[in-house]
Amino acid sequence: MFIKDEYIKSILSSTKSADESEIESIFEKARKMERLSMEEIGVLLNLEDEKYIKEMYKIAGKIKDDIYGKRVVMFAPLYVSDYCINSCVYCGYKCQNNFDRSKLSDEDIVGEVTELLKMGHKRIAFEAGEDDKNCDIDYIVHAIKKIYEVDYNGEKIRRINVNIASTTVDNFKKLKLADIGTYILFQETYNREKYEEVHPSGPKSSYEYHLTAFDRAMEAGIDDVGAGILLGLYNYKYEVLGLIEHNNHLEEDYGVGFHTVSLPRIKDAVGTDKSIFKDIVTDEEFKKIVAIIRIALPFTGIIISTREDIEMREEIIDYGVSQLSAGSSTEVGGYKKHNKETQFKISDSREMKDVVLDLINTGYIPSFCTACYRMGRTGEEFMDIVNHKNIKNICTPNAFLTLYEYSLDHMDIDTQIKVKEIIVRESKDLSNREDFLGKIKELETGVRDLYY
Ligand code: SAM
Repeated sequence: MFIKDEYIKSILSSTKSADESEIESIFEKARKMERLSMEEIGVLLNLEDEKYIKEMYKIAGKIKDDIYGKRVVMFAPLYVSDYCINSCVYCGYKCQNNFDRSKLSDEDIVGEVTELLKMGHKRIAFEAGEDDKNCDIDYIVHAIKKIYEVDYNGEKIRRINVNIASTTVDNFKKLKLADIGTYILFQETYNREKYEEVHPSGPKSSYEYHLTAFDRAMEAGIDDVGAGILLGLYNYKYEVLGLIEHNNHLEEDYGVGFHTVSLPRIKDAVGTDKSIFKDIVTDEEFKKIVAIIRIALPFTGIIISTREDIEMREEIIDYGVSQLSAGSSTEVGGYKKHNKETQFKISDSREMKDVVLDLINTGYIPSFCTACYRMGRTGEEFMDIVNHKNIKNICTPNAFLTLYEYSLDHMDIDTQIKVKEIIVRESKDLSNREDFLGKIKELETGVRDLYY
């Protein structure tokens, strides 16, 4: 198995007392965005001294800026089914919880997706509990097709990332044919013992089957996968090294690592009080985790959900976060009902337009871009662009085009003017500026969905 428990533990204990020159040489490698070894990441995880932590934030911030600029990709989850036969102790959907479970009908999908389109969302994360009878792969594939079909005044969902349970190669092939963006699955914890303790029954209780999901996805031709750890279940330093080992395994065997990493911190959920967990991650530790992952995996997107509050979300964008959910509901049918939570409690309940406006006002560029996967830029092809430092030239104009489109369709005239001023000012260095400004004009004449 590629997660080696003893190896991770030995790194964590042998990297506790790195000296100044060792730390400085790791920082120097990080500044040049060179790949760090597991031991070097261990040293970063064990740093306690305020002065080193500050320097680490600075380096992570610079990497973030060099690769992503001020762009932040926006998305929302769509909870499609809450049927679940697992018993994850931390989750409100666990089978022991008694509530009326449901899944979206075709009609419900139209209702939910219309609400998301009214908010201006173009990219969603499809969420479902695991239940092969009530929510099988054929239902999932059908639901994905229906979501892509919904049209609200010419607006459509352009990318569906899918967060469903670990499954078979054949089922992953069906997902691939359904035109999904990223296949997302959180390992929750990389520590086998803890994993088995918090997943006592149901198909998810198999550590091995869960851990090898991306191998089967890759075998089925899905080369765009997103990982995650549920912070609070186990020692965060162990989890970060587990995550990096997982990524390294995929790179070695399939030539491509994680497209994204999600970092949910555990929240209270119906039937579970998070205080039963011994490894709750503090705010300071959380910031450190974001910065270290940004340094260790410079080109991997980092996703933060509405589990975090406004203040934290704003601060960690600077240390490496590149994708934010907004206006979210974690309940099946929650968008139409204007009901926000069942799976776990959310902390940022601002409306989507307010999140977008706050980001713009603090100097960020909310992006609704979905171009890469539609242009076939996934897996190795995506890494090729990244390695040739082309990501900025493609992503910056796409972010501006989609933000301007969003402002024309969903914001008042003053904001539209403001967005245009920002775009004209910030696009001065684009090599394809003339063509880009032509596309901005086209948007004003009503043309939509323009990208590179
Ligand atoms: N059913 C899918 C699976 O088996 O992986 C995942 C769907 S679930 C909707 C998405 C994620 O929410 C889980 O993987 C878990 O990490 C997270 N989650 C569950 N309960 C949570 C809680 N109480 N606080 C924070 N995140 C939670």
